[in-house]
Amino acid sequence: MSSYESLGIRPVINAFATLTKLGGSVMPAEVVQAMVDASKCFVDLHDLQRKVGERIAELTHNEAAYVSSGAAAGLLLATAACVAGKNPDLIERFPNLSGLKNAVIVQRLHRNGYDYAVRETGVKLVEIGSEDGTSEDDLRQALNENTAAIFWFQGAMNRPSELALDRVITIANEHGVPVIVDAAAQLPPVENLWKFTQMGAALAVFSGGKDLSGPQSSGLVLGRKDLIEAIRMHGAPNHAVGRPMKVGKEEMMGLLAAVERYLTLDHKARGVDFEARVKLWNEGLKNIEGVTASRDYPNEAGQPAPRTLLSFSEKYSKDEIIQKLWDGDPCIAVAPANGNGILLNPMTLDDVEAEIVLQRLKEVMV
Ligand SMILES: *Cc1c(COP(=O)(O)O)cnc(C)c1O
Repeated sequence: MSSYESLGIRPVINAFATLTKLGGSVMPAEVVQAMVDASKCFVDLHDLQRKVGERIAELTHNEAAYVSSGAAAGLLLATAACVAGKNPDLIERFPNLSGLKNAVIVQRLHRNGYDYAVRETGVKLVEIGSEDGTSEDDLRQALNENTAAIFWFQGAMNRPSELALDRVITIANEHGVPVIVDAAAQLPPVENLWKFTQMGAALAVFSGGKDLSGPQSSGLVLGRKDLIEAIRMHGAPNHAVGRPMKVGKEEMMGLLAAVERYLTLDHKARGVDFEARVKLWNEGLKNIEGVTASRDYPNEAGQPAPRTLLSFSEKYSKDEIIQKLWDGDPCIAVAPANGNGILLNPMTLDDVEAEIVLQRLKEVMV
């Protein structure tokens, strides 16, 4: 019996996504081993954070890197670094930011649940543009001496009518304001680890526990050295706003191993595997009455990976199908589609599990 089962917790076959609420990802053996090795002795944590950061920065072609306790913690620390820098008197002031540069600009279109991590520092979000889009003038008018940073969220929130990232960066640079990119779920492609910072973003923030398959409670902040140095001062084990977002030695070494592994993965071969699973589902389900199976691309986070979209006639309700798969044996998680349908993600399971998902779908759709 697994330790989960001894608690009455059922293992989940994940055909949804690298969802935090399902555990993010499953760590490969080399990541687990790195964490086990790291757990065996004491080390100087400041020193380890610095050395791991230097190694990751080198591997990802960035000036500097910091291991946070998740992408959301990375957003918070990046915000703090832009507001107070390395000034110990200002670092002490959080969350009372009156008199400090305490405004952070974000496009109205990009507002999403994760911007709470930015607001949590005490900064004021200044929304620019509307649901219909954002113009250069919107950004220029919002920038002033109170602007600490501009946040850019990359993922399901992006729209053609947004003010494009390269324009945001150009205008921000004219004013000497850093642009922070939330790229939490922007892997693959692996090049994104350096693409945003090479475009001129001051920092790019990634989740360690999504496709990187590092420890679930890890994240990666990449970019400008001065800001990463400031983040160190705001972060644990220092007594500052980031102290409750502690990163353990195991997470630091686990994430380093995950980055090393990710850079050597055959991403083309992975793409072929993803397509094969989508094809298995589409072929296997195409003759069921009331169901249309098709390939959906790119996926919800904009990653260059396919999914299967199952659209239902009135014969089925998506909520019922989702519940039946979840309540069945084994427990299967799938994503709801916008209309009456579901989405199957090939990235978070293996071939055996993909086959089980197909069989269970055939059983519940009768
Ligand atoms: C997942 C996600 C986060 C949070 O990442 P964690 O590592 O779970 O903290 C932040 N922003 C976006 C856009 C995400 O998709």
